Amino acid sequence: MTVRLRAHHLLCMLTFVGEGYNPAFTANYRRLAERLSAGEEIEIVHGPDDICAPLLADAEAHCFRESVGLRDKAAALDVSALLGIAIVEGLVIRPDAAFLAKLREGFSKHSVRGACSGCEWSTLCDRIAGVGFDGVLVGSARPIRPERAIGTSARRME
Ligand code: SF4
Repeated sequence: MTVRLRAHHLLCMLTFVGEGYNPAFTANYRRLAERLSAGEEIEIVHGPDDICAPLLADAEAHCFRESVGLRDKAAALDVSALLGIAIVEGLVIRPDAAFLAKLREGFSKHSVRGACSGCEWSTLCDRIAGVGFDGVLVGSARPIRPERAIGTSARRME
């Protein structure tokens, strides 16, 4: 199994502390956070993903909007530059501690925050990053040395 994520959710998962749009959304997100924390692989998808799933019965859900697709594009560009791998549909990534630490380092330095422009959750995400990601539910917030980060843990799904 993989956890299917759209590109900008690579960022959102870094600051997830249990808050969200409604109880079904947060319950599903918590289950995904447990799977990611256990090391289950991420598959990058185009459009609505496993985090969006509880909202998709509503045909008007924001997950379908073009503006959210633009968030994905911005996140893919930023994260690709940070990690040195192309964040494209079908890519499979193991969210190990090094990967999460590298992303959180970039998040803290605002080098991967282009997707966050205008997001209603920005204040929360800024606050979580500002306290060293204390209380997050995906992986450990413990900083690690960047040289251990990624490089061999991503592959393209055929
Ligand atoms: S500010 Fe919005 S887009 Fe950025 S990480 Fe937070 S929830 Fe995701």
